[in-house]
Amino acid sequence: MSRTIKKVLIANRGEIAVRIARSAKEMGIATVALYSEPDRSSPHVLMCDEAYPLAGRSAVETYLNIPKILDIAAKSDADAVHPGYGFLSEKAEFAVAVTGAGLIFIGPRHETIALLGDKTAARELLKSRSLPIVPGTTTPLASAAEAAAAAASIGYPVLIKAAGGGGGKGMRKVANESELAAAMERSANEAAKAFGDPRVYIEKYIEHPKHIEIQVLADSHGNVIHLGERECSIQRRHQKVIEECPSTAVSPELRGAMGDAAIAVCRAAGYVNAATVEFLVDRHHRFYFLEVNTRIQVEHPVTEMVYGIDIVKEQIRIAEGKPLSWRQQDVVPRGHAVECRIYAEETDNDFLPSTGRITHLAPSEGPGIRHDAGARPGSEITMHYDPMIAKLIAHGSDRSEAVARMVRALQEYSISGVKTTIPFCLTVLAHHDFVKGSYDITFVERHHRSAAAPVRHPEAAAVAAAFVAYRDAGNSAVSGSGPPVMPSRWKKEGRR
Ligand code: ADP
Repeated sequence: MSRTIKKVLIANRGEIAVRIARSAKEMGIATVALYSEPDRSSPHVLMCDEAYPLAGRSAVETYLNIPKILDIAAKSDADAVHPGYGFLSEKAEFAVAVTGAGLIFIGPRHETIALLGDKTAARELLKSRSLPIVPGTTTPLASAAEAAAAAASIGYPVLIKAAGGGGGKGMRKVANESELAAAMERSANEAAKAFGDPRVYIEKYIEHPKHIEIQVLADSHGNVIHLGERECSIQRRHQKVIEECPSTAVSPELRGAMGDAAIAVCRAAGYVNAATVEFLVDRHHRFYFLEVNTRIQVEHPVTEMVYGIDIVKEQIRIAEGKPLSWRQQDVVPRGHAVECRIYAEETDNDFLPSTGRITHLAPSEGPGIRHDAGARPGSEITMHYDPMIAKLIAHGSDRSEAVARMVRALQEYSISGVKTTIPFCLTVLAHHDFVKGSYDITFVERHHRSAAAPVRHPEAAAVAAAFVAYRDAGNSAVSGSGPPVMPSRWKKEGRR
């Protein structure tokens, strides 16, 4: 049954709320924003046709509050809800509440969210279909003895993971049996605190893998296609900072095999809407399923740039009951895209949030550059929400052009008031492992020398970081093609 959406309530904030509003506007759909007190004059509020306050400041009082959000949906006469990412996007009870109120939920069915949100249930489903999961348990661990038996059979090191997990929380690497029981208890406690679900399971720790994920689109008519891969191995605390499409490690054959596996996962789960199937790929190009994210991903723009497909529009069309606009054979990649997440973070101080007011913001522009921002001059970065300010995306005809454009755009980006991940991203992009594309998920912990110790003399650290990056770029086998590392801050500040 097909139903046209006329007005969409965007149950989110920041750059993703702006991003969704843009696609809705292009489709002639009216947009409704909601906002907490600190977000009163945020870009997503200014962007939408209507905006309603959610009294309060904390996430629990505002963007996580289902009754308040449904109240606004009714008041504004919206006929659909887009949950974005984070907040309520992967809470099955939100999808139930939205559809129960007679509205269209722009995402998969609640049963699918519940099934795939339980990582052990998802692993069990894949195992039953002979799809490749990371070796380990497919049911939550009942005791330390069961964990020890499982770890002995797959071999150390192992990873304890939260069944209801996300955001890298509750995850712990265990080197041998003597550490196992205590690690299991700590993970269960952390998971109970973060997700209200203490269940944990065990996976083989894969050494030096790449994180590579497949974008899938599935409609309600049985059509399922994939839009290739994104590589997301540049991570701190198991969370992504830089992503690219395509991955240097993926051949057309591997893309075909991973794409087929991702489609099989979605078919097995009866999936409808946009999905991301995450895998780890080891040094021998073997791939192992990690999880399915049942929502739009932060890093979706790199796929959009390379495949020329607006994923948010497809999500809306699918939710309306329309068939996919594309067949697999029509989906063709073009060029290369890189995304850098601009977080307000102290990269020299263990990536702690850098709170405060953005006093000045002039983003980069020019050929091949896309800027998806959720903040503007005057916006405050608080401890209440994720400290991501914006995403900068560069597209080029090949990888070296995309990376060079990204370096140019990061150097051009002008922001004051908070510290950001921009200098960190420039250092990563100049590193010979990144230039060669031979990096893996351990890149940041191995190369970010100041992550462990808080920095007391930031100017000296900046000089040292620039020196290290310069030296590394100079050591590179491909140093001639490596981008320059740091723009002169003095020059930039002086001109400003
Ligand atoms: P979350 O849902 O908490 O983000 P994921 O399962 O998606 O957890 O894993 C997040 C990251 O943790 C991965 O991208 C990878 O860097 C690391 N990781 C997860 N599982 C393993 C594993 N079995 N071996 C090595 N690293 C892993």
